[in-house]
This record gives sequence, C-alpha cells and structure tokens, in this order.
Amino acid sequence: MTTLPPPTLLLRIDRDALAHNWRALDALSGSARAGAAVKANCYGLGVETCVPVLREAGCRDFFVAHWSEVPAVLRHVPPGQVAVLHGPIDAGEAAYARAVRVRPVIDSLRQARLWLESGGGPCNLMVDTGINRLGISPADLPHPAVQQLEIEVLMSHLACADEDSAMNARQIDAFRTCRSAVRHKEASLANSAGIALGGDYGFDLTRPGLSLYGGIPRSELAGDIRQVAYPEARVIQCREIGAGETVGYNATFTASRAMRIGVVSLGYADGILRSWAGAHFTHGECRLPILGKVSMDMIVLDLSDAPDVGEGDWVALPYHLPDAARQTTLSQYELLTILGHRFG
Ligand SMILES: *Cc1c(COP(=O)(O)O)cnc(C)c1O
Repeated sequence: MTTLPPPTLLLRIDRDALAHNWRALDALSGSARAGAAVKANCYGLGVETCVPVLREAGCRDFFVAHWSEVPAVLRHVPPGQVAVLHGPIDAGEAAYARAVRVRPVIDSLRQARLWLESGGGPCNLMVDTGINRLGISPADLPHPAVQQLEIEVLMSHLACADEDSAMNARQIDAFRTCRSAVRHKEASLANSAGIALGGDYGFDLTRPGLSLYGGIPRSELAGDIRQVAYPEARVIQCREIGAGETVGYNATFTASRAMRIGVVSLGYADGILRSWAGAHFTHGECRLPILGKVSMDMIVLDLSDAPDVGEGDWVALPYHLPDAARQTTLSQYELLTILGHRFG
C-alpha cells in the first residue's frame, strides 16, 4: 500500500486558545452559560478538531444550521446538546429530528405545526425581534400551535451587536416582551458581539461563534480572545529573477533589481483571495512580501530578506482576524469560513 504524503499547506489550530476563548466567553456571559455555534464545520476550522475541545472546556449547548451538519457533531456530543437553527422544512426533517433526538429550532408558525404534527416534544423557538431573517413573528406567539410547543430555549438574534446601534436596545426590549408571551424554560439572545454588550444581554444561555475561533467583533473583547487558526504552507520552488522581469498573471509586479523569490503552495482555491495582494507572509522574524497576483494554487513571495528560506520550508500567513479583515476587506466571518479543503 502506498501512503499519501501530507499536504503542503496546513491550518494549524491552537486548541488551547480555542478552549481559552470558550472559557473567557463563558465568564463574560455573567450568570448565563456559553454555548457554541459550530455550524459551517466550526466556521471552517473543523468539527472533528474543535467540538471535542469545546466539550472538554465545558460547553454543553451546540448549534448547527443544517440537518446535514448533525451527524459529525453527534460523534462527539449527546443529541440533547445539539440544536438545528434552520428547523424542519418538511415532515422528513421533523422525522429525522425525532429519530436522532436532536432539538429543532422552530422558526415559523408553519414549522411549529410541522413539529406538532410529527409528534412534538422538546424544541427551541426562534423569535424575530427585528433582523427580519429567520424566526417567528412576535404577533404569532399567541397562536395555539406555538402555545402548545414544549420550548426549552426561547431565542432571538441581534442584527447590530457589533455596532453601538439603537437597534440593540430595541431588540432586547422586544425580546423581553416576547418572553412574557410564551412559556419557555430558558432564554438566549447574545452572539459573540452580544456578549460584549454586557450582562443584560446574557439571559440564560449565550451563543458565541466567531469569537470562539479568534474573531474580535467588538474592541471590548480584544484582551480576552486569542487567535486560533494559523494558515501555513511550504515553499515549493525558489528562483532568481533579474531587474525588469515580472511575476505572475498579468505581470503586475516588475522587479527593480535582481532578487530571489519563492513560490508557496496555496492560493485562492484555498480561500486566500486576491485581496491579499500587498500583504506578506512570515518565516520566524522575517517578512516575506507577496509579489503580484495570487494564483489559484500558488502565491509568489519576495525572499530578499530571508536568505535562509528554501524549497520545502514552511512559511506562515499572518491571520490575526481584525488585521486580516482590514487587509482584505473581507469580514472576519468570511476569512474563517472561506478557508478551503486542501489544508492538512
Ligand atoms: C451564527 C449564529 C450565532 C453565532 O454568532 P457569532 O456572531 O458568530 O458569534 C449565534 N446565533 C445564531 C442564531 C447564529 O445563526
């Protein structure tokens, strides 16, 4: 049997930082406990790696978006700890929820009826307090199909928690009104940024996602949140070019002097988009500026200040999320979830 060699690009996950971030967000949630949004394969960082770390840190409430995301999470945590944000769209999804004993988040009157018709049982209820995305309208709460639900967690979602917006106070007021309109055991409003808004926003359970994985949506969190994801890749070729030679597609970089350059094995197919042009990689203390355009599978670096870097060596792309967001104009959420599938 032949063994497949390891990939030449690596997404290093700092498990200690991930556990630290969950504990920090749990502590910042005041009297509430923190759960974890683990949708989109833990924002691209890997359910297999991240969910066991979150579980060992103490997390007991896990949120995915799709039913297709359930099996991977159930390999690590009991079904009663998993909730599916998109809820059941038809009888088949409701039947699946019952079969695996995972909790649906009911998002509409139609979903409430579907859930009751499938036999009912414990569920969460998402109420829309102003984001106008997913969630039952407050006006529908008195409906018998809603009043009959066995609601574990009444939830809502903040639209502007990463800003000092009047919307936040409007949503918390609307949420409090909803709480008196329907029976429920617990309440949950805050995402990562919502936790930073302070104790009032915690209720019983918070639902951080971004900040678990190193995102800093509000400056209040900067001192508490550590970077988790570190993209690295190998130099697969070095070459010398002369003054006047160009690098990459459309020849957007022209060398003003003879220089040594290196080709790194990752590119926009791995989620490192062309908006990284002008940034740099690092090797130890050395800065290795990106030259020309990012290709699908390769990025070319200036090795002028790194004479020791050669073919086969590993270099790192600085991925501190607030800085990377400024460089690329992508959001911190996009920078995580965009990372591709070729990383080891
Ligand atoms: C994704 C999501 C979260 C997590 O939000 P972050 O901003 O990543 O912390 C919380 N609640 C719901 C309903 C979500 O969809």
